[in-house]
Amino acid sequence: MKHGQPAGPRQPTLRLKRGHEAARTHPWIFKGDVADVSDVEPGSAVTVIDAGGRFVGRGFYNPRPALCCRILTWIDELLDAGFFQRRIETAAARRRGPAQGPPTLCRLVWSEADGLPGLVVDRYGPVLVTQCLTLGMARARPLVTAALGSLLGEASVFDMDDPTSARLEGFSATLGWAGASGPRTVRVIEDGVTFEVTIGAGHKTGLYLDQRENRARVGALARDRDVLDAFSYTAGFACHALRGGARRAVCIESSPEAIAGARQNLALNGVADRAEISATNAFDELRRLERQGTRFGVIVLDPPPFARSRSALDAAARGYKEINLRALRLLERGGSLLTFSCSHHVSDTMFDEICRDAAADAGARLRVVDRLGQAHDHPVLLTIPETRYLKGLHLESL
Ligand code: SAH
Repeated sequence: MKHGQPAGPRQPTLRLKRGHEAARTHPWIFKGDVADVSDVEPGSAVTVIDAGGRFVGRGFYNPRPALCCRILTWIDELLDAGFFQRRIETAAARRRGPAQGPPTLCRLVWSEADGLPGLVVDRYGPVLVTQCLTLGMARARPLVTAALGSLLGEASVFDMDDPTSARLEGFSATLGWAGASGPRTVRVIEDGVTFEVTIGAGHKTGLYLDQRENRARVGALARDRDVLDAFSYTAGFACHALRGGARRAVCIESSPEAIAGARQNLALNGVADRAEISATNAFDELRRLERQGTRFGVIVLDPPPFARSRSALDAAARGYKEINLRALRLLERGGSLLTFSCSHHVSDTMFDEICRDAAADAGARLRVVDRLGQAHDHPVLLTIPETRYLKGLHLESL
């Protein structure tokens, strides 16, 4: 079947309502966009056609969530072993450095941005960690594992699904080795800094790989500065700052597992003697530091997503403003604040406004040194705005 021609009669199809054809460039189809759909096994492939019966694309259909279909291809090809192999090879090629082969520490596949909605693959040296976020992708997992095997045969594959997505989509989250077991812990080197990752534990797939380039930036800024790493997780920013010559670093983190990881990473990099960990709520600790009159030359604010839904936006904005206001009161003149939001629903404009409000309340004048985002192995597609989720500002106090 060629573009623009009717789908064959017996293929399972999903027909879009007239005027609901955003799926030509954006892979998401919601129940309200669907005119009718063949009776298919949940999670299986359907051919998406427009109201006039013309081919739009092919994706996995699941009647359970409101986002019921995600298109994987806009050309008429089967979603078979060859398809997954081509997609994964393309994703790896996109990340290939001058040394050939995919980098040993990277996000290898990132869902919609790599044409594989519902699949994340991160590489930690000899281990590939996969996450299936849709029922269709969970059912296609053997094809994914096979494609990863032919790309990086020597790597061990660990499956680590996100339980929330699994519940929403109606499949049981997998947690375990896909084949032969690999190492339980792996040491990776990120721009000269060593991190230990326990496979199958921790946030995301082990590390916040999306902050990689921003951590390197802090490493380059930190010489002879006192650094505050608020919402530090396993002390990624603090390790880079201290290796970059910071005088000292204070980490604020509330999760005991993350704090244990932070202690280990600080020790591994030989910088624990210049680090302190405040194992507490960052909101309280920022206030306490302010009362104490402490000042920092570099401050990183990297909180979890405060707005998990559109309805939570007002409360989220208050939270972001509060921490930015507190941080600005702790910032030395000439110092740098690197402040982030990873909430999909907070736009760049809204984040600017929140920081501007905080600056007004703190009486701070700030230069925008740079606008920051996620690392380049988390690509952004113009037609899928949701692919750009991490936004940040590097501000310098004047
Ligand atoms: N900057 C980190 C990632 C931070 S993720 C890195 O580069 O690796 C956000 C962290 O904030 C998580 O580790 C979470 O446990 C922690 N956190 C969430 N709410 C918190 C709070 N109220 N106080 C302190 N830490 C918090």
